[in-house]
Amino acid sequence: MQSPFLLRGRFGLGDNIYQLPIVEEFCRVHHDREVYLRTPWPQLYKSVLYRNGNLRLFPSDTNLRDCKANETRQKRLGVYDPLPAKWLEGEAYELNYRSAMMADPDLDVFGGLATSIGVEPRVTGGVLTWFTATPDARKVIGDGRLILARPASLRTEWPCQSRNPRPRIIADVLDVLRHARNGRTCRFVSVANLDGVAECLADGELPFRIGHEIDEAFEHGQIDIDAVLTAASSAVVLVGPPGWIIPFSIVRRIPAIIVFGGHTKPACLIPDWCDWIMPIAPEPFCDCRDNYHDCEKRLRFDARAIAVWADRHIPEGPRR
Ligand SMILES: [Zn+2]
Repeated sequence: MQSPFLLRGRFGLGDNIYQLPIVEEFCRVHHDREVYLRTPWPQLYKSVLYRNGNLRLFPSDTNLRDCKANETRQKRLGVYDPLPAKWLEGEAYELNYRSAMMADPDLDVFGGLATSIGVEPRVTGGVLTWFTATPDARKVIGDGRLILARPASLRTEWPCQSRNPRPRIIADVLDVLRHARNGRTCRFVSVANLDGVAECLADGELPFRIGHEIDEAFEHGQIDIDAVLTAASSAVVLVGPPGWIIPFSIVRRIPAIIVFGGHTKPACLIPDWCDWIMPIAPEPFCDCRDNYHDCEKRLRFDARAIAVWADRHIPEGPRR
């Protein structure tokens, strides 16, 4: 039997969602060989595993907080495959979008990842696993149509203040949505895993206010990640800074408003065919790709454009 392929996947949750269709395409092209993928987020791959009998998952052994916590839980569930004895002989690739995107600034993340492992960036639906609603997920979902928000935060492990928007803009967007015709009957909930050490609110950012921008907050890791993803699946709109909600919105086709600061231009993170995503970005945009750059983030906040978008994308609900 031929030696397996080894794919060194990305660590981040968002990166792993971007990776799903690219890994699936790699498995499809190389259907006659085993493909071992390193990932701390194996539960995302159930659908891809189901369709591709040659895919195997092995743990990353990273020490990044959220990845490690998830991986430890997943190891206990026994979802990983042991690496085969001959794994060192395997042909290894690293899923990496940076080098391809540096070479071609017009490439988006799907294109960058696909280039790094030599496949076409074919993004198909149904690549992300559906999660079953747990009691935790139901706490977030509640009994209304959900608008799920993420606060702008800063991680000690990978600080990137340049990517975050100026303070309060996400709150201002939520405020417009809450007053929009179909937004008035929605339930606004924010989710995060802020612990004040590994992750805290972005510089100058204030918490969303209960009863103003949101109805309820689960911002301190009270809800596990599977429940957060289940809730996100049932949301009518996602709102937040760049992060995992972008690829989530893309592969699930859930309308989203993403508020940018600087670092990486929207077109690189959101392919142009994703017309259900509204990027709100400074003009001109600082595409510096530098986590520590003090980007100019001057923004013309267009409340009317957001309200028009809301009327188009938030489905009509029961009147209260
Ligand atoms: Zn910059």
